[in-house]
Parts: sequence; C-alpha cells; structure tokens
Amino acid sequence: MADKLQAIKGMNDILPPDSARWEWFEDTVRRLMARYGYKALRTPIVEPTALFVRGLGEVTDIVEKEMYSFTDHMNGDLLTLRPEATAGMVRAIVEHNALYNGPLRVWQMGPMFRHERPQKGRYRQFHQLDVEAFGHAGPDVDAEIILMVRALWRELGLKEGEHLTLEINSLGQPAERAAHRAALIAHFEAHADRLDDDAQRRLHSNPLRILDSKNPAMAPLVESAPKLLDYLGEASRAHFDGVRAVLDAAGLGYRINPRLVRGMDYYNLTVFEWVTPLLGAQSTVCGGGRYDTLIEQLGGKPAPGVGFGLGIERLLLLLEAAGLNPPPSVPDAYAVVADGVPMATVMPVLETLRAAGAAVVLHAGGGSLKSQFKRADASGARHALIFAPDELSRGELALKPLRDAAAAQRTRSLADAALWAGELLPA
Ligand code: ATP
Ligand code: MG
Repeated sequence: MADKLQAIKGMNDILPPDSARWEWFEDTVRRLMARYGYKALRTPIVEPTALFVRGLGEVTDIVEKEMYSFTDHMNGDLLTLRPEATAGMVRAIVEHNALYNGPLRVWQMGPMFRHERPQKGRYRQFHQLDVEAFGHAGPDVDAEIILMVRALWRELGLKEGEHLTLEINSLGQPAERAAHRAALIAHFEAHADRLDDDAQRRLHSNPLRILDSKNPAMAPLVESAPKLLDYLGEASRAHFDGVRAVLDAAGLGYRINPRLVRGMDYYNLTVFEWVTPLLGAQSTVCGGGRYDTLIEQLGGKPAPGVGFGLGIERLLLLLEAAGLNPPPSVPDAYAVVADGVPMATVMPVLETLRAAGAAVVLHAGGGSLKSQFKRADASGARHALIFAPDELSRGELALKPLRDAAAAQRTRSLADAALWAGELLPA
C-alpha cells in the first residue's frame, strides 16, 4: 500500500456528524444577516502580502510571526494566505468603489490562516464570520453590531453572563493615543528590567501592543499601565458614551476593560470582545471595533468603518461545552430495495418524492432486507419505503413508519408519488 497522506498540522477536516454543527451555525448566521440588512461580500483567500503589512501594521503578532507568505514562482509576486478578513474587505470595496452610492453593510464566512502553535481553540487554518459596516461614523452602528452578536448568541441558545460576557473599551483618536503613548513608554521604561523580549522590541515601535501581551509574567506591569480612557478628548468620550447608552437601553451588560486594545493597529474609538469562561486560554470568541482610517490607508477615499471577526471553531467548542446541539436532522425516508428489483423502477419514484421536498436516502448496493432495515433504522429515517416484487407487481410500494409504533404499514402507488409525498414530511 502507498504511504498515507495527512492533513497539515493545525488544519482540520470537518466530517459528519460534526459538520452538522457548522451548518447549524452557518444557517443561523445567514438568517441573522438578512434580518439586519447585511449583504454577502466574498473576497479571495490569497492577497498581496503588502495588504496585510500596510493594513494590520508591521509591529503586530500577525504580521511579525503568523502569516503564511510565499513567492509566486511564476512571476515573483509576494502573496499571503489571509490571516483575517477586514483588510481584504476594505481592499475590495476600495477597488470596486463600492461606497459610491453610500454606506455598505457586508459580511463573509471562510477560512483564515495563521502560523500559531496548534491547541484547543487555536489552529493554523481556522474560520471566521466577519461583519463590516462601511460609511457610518456614529456610535449607533457600533452598538448595532454588538447587539447583532448578542442576537446570534440568543438564536443559538447561549446565555450572556453565563456563557459569554462583553468587554468594551475606547482607543480614542490618533492624537489622543500619541499622548497616551508617551506616558506608556515612560511607564514601561521605568520597569525596563521586567519587560519580555517582545515588549523590549515594541517599546518604541508600538508600545500599545505591549498591552495585548499574552505573557502572564507581564500582567502586573500591563495592569498598572496608564489607561487610554484617561486620555480621551470630548468627542471620543461622547462616542463611547453613545455606544454605552444604546447597550444600556438594550439591557446588555458589559465590562469596561481599559486594557483591551485588540491585535491590529487599524482600530480607533470603540473596541470590544466577547469572552467566555468555558474555553481556558482561548477565551475570546469574537472581537471587533471601529477603524476610521483604514480605508484611506489602503488607498480609498476617507470613510469610516466598524466590524468584527468571530472565531467559528471557538464558538462551536463553546456550544458543545454549553451542551447546545443542532436540531436533529434525519431523512424523511430510507428506501429499501429487495433483491432483483431494478433501480430503473426505484429511482424515478425517489426523484419525484425529493422534488416534492422529501429527504430520501437510497440504500445502494443491495444486501438482505434485514441488513437494509438495520441501515434504515440507523439512519434515523422516519419511514422505510419498501420496493419488493409483490407490491411492485401491483404498481405499488410499501410505506412503513419506523418511529411510530402505533402507525400501520400501508401501500402507496408508484405512479402517484407526488400526491402522497407529503405523508413523509414531519407534521
Ligand atoms: P487571540 O488573542 O486568541 O490570539 P486574536 O486577537 O489574535 O485572538 P482576532 O484577530 O481578533 O484574534 O480574530 C477574531 C477571532 O478569531 C478571535 O477572537 C478568535 O475567536 C478567532 N481566532 C483568532 N485566531 C485563531 C486561531 N488561530 N484559531 C482559531 N480561532 C482563532
Ligand atoms: Mg492571535
């Protein structure tokens, strides 16, 4: 036998029955996006490396150490597998001048790539739901997308407070951050001996990133650092208060976390994360915020933006930990075919039933009726359709209820399948 090939470390296959959880999530998202007026925008998985370097910032974990970048050997182009979705979304709306007719609310779901140490809730290929609202400057849309995430939790059965809590902060505007930055550098310089390597390196290039450190040894120093919230001017404060007023009115509780800075440089004003106590170190399930200078930075006409990314694997792990399962999905019928019955007789009937909306699984490959009934049972189907010579000779098949002991087996006409297909569907 030839050697077995394996998936790349940190990149996962998703097989049934686990894939049902994914489809449950995806279906829920599609319905929710329509309810909030968000449209699909799909971008390529491969983008020019420069997009992420310019978009996310050179001194970030992603750009410094996590990107899958490579040279296209055909033409020498520098390319990167997208590590996040916002930069690509912005590139696309700039490239297509998509804000020409006013604001745009868009979303997409798909794989992202980061070269990290694989562990539970952290992979090298993972998936995000990404939602972006372009062209809205006010705090109302910041609040709306946060409420939209709460609506998603509720649709899936997750409870705020118990399974997930909201943290918010404001990063102010660039001028406010400059003043804070000076205070931050002074603070970290005063404790230079306690800075880890990353922090040493970032002290002067990007000190705000130090607040995003995952090193527990850095925690006390980060905890005592000057707070950006204390440096906000009146307009930034009013924006933050505007977001809070809507969240308060909607009865959504949150914690103000002055240390919350997010991992990319493009954010300003509102930032937020939804965190869970149920997933250990991989506690952030969803994070986002406002990025009012990114569009201009990537070559577009200045326009504000706000959005979030949600880690689908982490969310599905959370659903599992919370004991929340997709609604069961079973076929309406399983077709059992006696030895010698031609498929040419069976298939057209099944096609008619399916066209009428019934989910019908064909037992392919023959075998004894007993073994076929075992399969029918294991499939969870509510009915068996029995194609056997006796009934077929009268132009009929037998319809046997499998889950309802009180219901009797009956015969139905092959020619009239469209008329009785509805009997297979759940009441
Ligand atoms: P973390 O701090 O856990 O590394 P992050 O701040 O790098 O997360 P974002 O860039 O904000 O993550 O991405 C949004 C969401 O995508 C995260 O909150 C998380 O749920 C998910 N995510 C990020 N990286 C991974 C990964 N390597 N594997 C699985 N999910 C991930
Ligand atoms: Mg990360």
